[in-house]
Amino acid sequence: MPINHTSSTAELAWQESALCAQTGPDFFFPDPGSSTREAKRLCAACDGREACLEYALTHDERFGVWGGLSEKERYALRRQGR
Ligand code: SF4
Repeated sequence: MPINHTSSTAELAWQESALCAQTGPDFFFPDPGSSTREAKRLCAACDGREACLEYALTHDERFGVWGGLSEKERYALRRQGR
């Protein structure tokens, strides 16, 4: 999920191909209990998916769908010691 804060240009290069930048944040930050299916479908087709997920894990992003994974799925990945 593209963000707007100070990070290096190289670190955020994947955002140039981010599909969510074209659709807006609604799918990616759904209300609690709402479906993440649409966001994950877009992520599956996004060229920046791997870098996006890596960014979210590195920066401990707690909310929303990043790189095709929900916050719960990222939390599970971190607990596995990814
Ligand atoms: S993987 Fe998903 S959340 Fe990440 S940039 Fe692509 S569309 Fe956005």
